[in-house]
Amino acid sequence: MRYHSTKQDKIFSPLSEAVIKGLPDDNGLFVPESIATLPRTLFDPKHGIGLEEWGMAVMKPYFTPDIPESVLQTIIEDTLNFSIPLIEVERNVYSLELFHGPTLAFKDVGARFMARVLNYLSSRSKERTIVLVATSGDTGSAVAHGFFDMDNIEVVILYPSGKVSPLQEQQMTTLGKNIHALEVAGNFDDCQRMVKEAFLDQALNKKLQLTSANSINIARFLPQSVYYFHALAQLGFPENAVISVPSGNYGNLTAGLTGYLMGMPVEKFVASSNVNDIVPHYLATGEFSIKPSISTISNAMDVGNPSNFSRIDHFFKHDLEKMRRIMAGFSFDDDSTRAAIKEVYQSFDYMLDPHGAVAYLGLKKYMDKHPGKTGIFLETAHPAKFKDTVEEVLNTKLEIPEQLSVGMNKPKQTTLIGSNFSELKDFLLR
Ligand SMILES: *Cc1c(COP(=O)(O)O)cnc(C)c1O
Repeated sequence: MRYHSTKQDKIFSPLSEAVIKGLPDDNGLFVPESIATLPRTLFDPKHGIGLEEWGMAVMKPYFTPDIPESVLQTIIEDTLNFSIPLIEVERNVYSLELFHGPTLAFKDVGARFMARVLNYLSSRSKERTIVLVATSGDTGSAVAHGFFDMDNIEVVILYPSGKVSPLQEQQMTTLGKNIHALEVAGNFDDCQRMVKEAFLDQALNKKLQLTSANSINIARFLPQSVYYFHALAQLGFPENAVISVPSGNYGNLTAGLTGYLMGMPVEKFVASSNVNDIVPHYLATGEFSIKPSISTISNAMDVGNPSNFSRIDHFFKHDLEKMRRIMAGFSFDDDSTRAAIKEVYQSFDYMLDPHGAVAYLGLKKYMDKHPGKTGIFLETAHPAKFKDTVEEVLNTKLEIPEQLSVGMNKPKQTTLIGSNFSELKDFLLR
């Protein structure tokens, strides 16, 4: 499969270029040349195939033959080596638990897949690939774990000193090997600016093959389609499925919509946001107005300019009515989010994290108006990742899962640098 930019469909890039470069030169986003349709027989409830088989069926059209089938098979097995259970929380309301990976967030799926794809593609070029990533916390930990111990890749993570949680810092700084953490004396915007400057610096790019592990990379967003198919398969592909996705940059929802365009039966997707409501607002009014992001308790969704939306817009040929037929959108403030965490715990003995709570609220709002549906909401993080909020709302103590506590006693390995680009450049050229 070849890829082109959302801004034009005449010039194509091979898979390796789309993955290694990450972004096309025209500032659009890479999209597949075409969306593959899957045979109807796969959606036969009696077919009953597992997560890895879905992985192969859904990813094969996009990643072979550039990646040989047997290599792709191994990549999928290594990526999806944790369970993604579907739990019935109340009658006809299911939680798709995407948080059983190494950093307890759904970003593990995309980060692990991309790392393995990039490692394979880089092994065929002579240069060592350096993945540069600026993080305010969660992306850095998923990327660090996803890329850990890949032979052909070095990872350099920039995070703002004193502004990430101790748990997040521990997840990024205790791995060692090919993972290098840079603690920047500055804020997240400084980290992001320094990374951007690195991509624009000609001297640096002549010497090093730099790439980003941002969620806009096709190898990070596409594999997320797989768990939608697998979840619906467990319910026998009902015709009335409604899926609510807690959204920030909209990579996860874009993956779900890709599945739908491939033939997966879904009645409606609900774009559930916190008060950063750019997409729900667009669906309601037709106005796409980007805004500075507002801080909330579901902070991985605090995005004021959701970049993946341009892919959705491209898939639906810029037709708002078409989009509305398959997507609804709702936004919720922190008070409603806290109330949902409390209510679901008290009524159904199920613990939501703030992001899953926003998705739950969006699903319920849609189902209240449209009764008789089969509802799924995506639970994107383990509640313990947002321990302080959840403990305060529920007035109880949470147990820290093993994945989060393993690194606790390992020494922190990090390099403190200033917020001048020259310091990053020196580090990269050292
Ligand atoms: C990143 C993230 C989201 C938002 O996902 P997008 O693909 O950016 O829309 C939701 N929940 C959690 C826990 C996240 O880490």
